[in-house]
Amino acid sequence: MDVVVIGAGQAGSSLVVKLRALGYDGDVTLIGDEPVPPYQRPPLSKAYLLGKMGVERLFLRPEAYYSDHKITLRMGTPVTRIDAATKTVFLGDEALAYDQLALTTGAEPRQLPAAIGGQLEGVYAVRRLSDIDTMAAEFTEGRRVLIVGGGYIGLEAAAVAAQKGLQVTVLEAAPRILGRVASPETADFMRDLHTSHGVTIREGVGLTRLIGDSRVTGAELADGSTMQVDFVIAGIGINPAAALAEAAGLTMENGISVDDQGRTSDPAIWSAGDCASFVYKGARIRLESVQNAIDQAEAVAANMLGAGKAYAPMPWFWSDQYDVKLQIAGLNTGYDRIVTRVSGTARSHWYFKGDSFLAVDAMNDPRAYMVGKRMLEQGITPDPTALENPETELKTLLK
Ligand SMILES: Cc1cc2nc3c(=O)[nH]c(=O)nc-3n(C[C@H](O)[C@H](O)[C@H](O)COP(=O)(O)OP(=O)(O)OC[C@H]3O[C@@H](n4cnc5c(N)ncnc54)[C@H](O)[C@@H]3O)c2cc1C
Repeated sequence: MDVVVIGAGQAGSSLVVKLRALGYDGDVTLIGDEPVPPYQRPPLSKAYLLGKMGVERLFLRPEAYYSDHKITLRMGTPVTRIDAATKTVFLGDEALAYDQLALTTGAEPRQLPAAIGGQLEGVYAVRRLSDIDTMAAEFTEGRRVLIVGGGYIGLEAAAVAAQKGLQVTVLEAAPRILGRVASPETADFMRDLHTSHGVTIREGVGLTRLIGDSRVTGAELADGSTMQVDFVIAGIGINPAAALAEAAGLTMENGISVDDQGRTSDPAIWSAGDCASFVYKGARIRLESVQNAIDQAEAVAANMLGAGKAYAPMPWFWSDQYDVKLQIAGLNTGYDRIVTRVSGTARSHWYFKGDSFLAVDAMNDPRAYMVGKRMLEQGITPDPTALENPETELKTLLK
């Protein structure tokens, strides 16, 4: 059996490594369009952008790992087409046959439209190593950066810029930052954190257009005001990289639609990671996180080999901003009650819907995160009153 994996990122790399770990010894080819071995993206907007992490530490495994394990790693080679009928992928003119194919193509950052200046020089996305390497020179003290989008990526970039002494403005068109991904309480905490570091956060104000001839020099906002900027970072979300799959005729629904085993509408094609949507608690979702990329890809590897096991995601996420580590376990969608626990500098927000415990956001509180995660795994709902009381030893609530 020949296995081909398209997309040499977190999910693609986890998939091929798992295939070997499970004892599969057939041909495996991992194809990526970036010119470097698979790497982790989270540090791109954190330690790497801050200049506190070398590039080699980004790589998930040394390049030699792949050859040592007889995995053919093709870098800098975009797959241009899939012919599902003949089970062939094309890299330009080159054709490669497969028995089983996996699509781990990730996501593409949404761009600011060219009509409002999105193509001007000095406007950056935060997705690829090359994005960071090109924008790094802009991060010098005193310069003015406008960050469009108050999600995690935008806020992490804001934290790095503030720490490097830049003048930082974050623009969020929605009524508040982190609107899509965190509760108002967690957003309030993050807003205060940024404000205390001198970042200006403007919420409920959209961008009308960027100003500049060839390079961006300013921005006009929806409230009619203008501001001068030296450069711009767009952190306005991502779209699943699904064009290849769509052209191959696979079923699409919020990305590449897969079943509970990670199989697409074509029985010989699988998908995992940011590009794949699956049913979770009755809704078709995509999870844009490292943990999901790893776990789903490993499930696909096992299922390619016939395990027949359903993927049961355990959503968790983290974000580092300044000296705060935010860790999230579960998804708080639909919560109707929030319990706040504060103990010294540790803080956590616990989400409930009726009698069920849904998720926890832990800020500099690894214990709350660990215990909350275990509760979710074991289906335990903690007593809110005990939870709120900082005297309660969290572990006792696991019983
Ligand atoms: C700056 C940043 C910070 C993040 N921080 C966190 C965090 O703190 N915590 C967290 O959990 N998650 C974080 N994430 C999200 C996390 O990195 C992603 O969820 C994860 O990388 C998804 O893995 P993936 O393999 O699905 O996609 P990717 O890692 O994006 O890999 C997909 C690869 O496929 C390639 N590809 C696409 N099309 C083709 C083609 N036709 N041919 C060949 N190759 C192709 C892409 O170029 C890419 O290299 C962050 C992401 C970014 C960008």
